Amino acid sequence: MAEAPLSITVPAGRAIAVAVDAGQVLQVINTHGTQVVDSWAFGRQDPAQFMSMAHTRSVNSRLWPLPGQAFVSIGRKPMLRLVEDTSPGVHDTLLCACNAAIYAELGCVGYHRSCEDNLHEALAGEGITLGFTPAPLNLFMNVALATDGAVIRGSPASRPGDLIGLRAEMDLLVVLSACPQDITPINSEARTPRDVRVQVLPAGD
Ligand SMILES: [Zn+2]
Repeated sequence: MAEAPLSITVPAGRAIAVAVDAGQVLQVINTHGTQVVDSWAFGRQDPAQFMSMAHTRSVNSRLWPLPGQAFVSIGRKPMLRLVEDTSPGVHDTLLCACNAAIYAELGCVGYHRSCEDNLHEALAGEGITLGFTPAPLNLFMNVALATDGAVIRGSPASRPGDLIGLRAEMDLLVVLSACPQDITPINSEARTPRDVRVQVLPAGD
């Protein structure tokens, strides 16, 4: 009998860390269609090899990889290869993770969860301390670049149940944050963070 996929819910506004072995496919399912998922990957053999949006754009000469192209490390090594995307394909590699400073700018008083804090909380749960925040892969985040260089933010173009599949090209620790942004419409006009589902499919499927 085939091995069942690992299935995990990422609670709204929170993050999980998940180990993905080389050859396994990580599926991120946008259950409600409205949720941005900030994503990071680290090499399990060498956590200093982290997924880099700048290197990914350089290697592929594109803002977003084509199917078959990979997100790469700072050493330009393939980490996650794009194998499936049932969404309209609108994602972001340009913008930073939300953090305490953004929520202060937006007028929040007191603590507000952020993707940056979610990342470090998830890494701490794995015994990893990282002194900085790599630029995230912002799945389902609707960011476009105008010809005059303007960055245009919209609500997610994805539909409920849309998913993206990424095949691990090395043993990885992946952190996925269901963005807690509830002030701007980046998680849709409802401005309500939602849960998403993650599946890890056995290698060879
Ligand atoms: Zn966020």
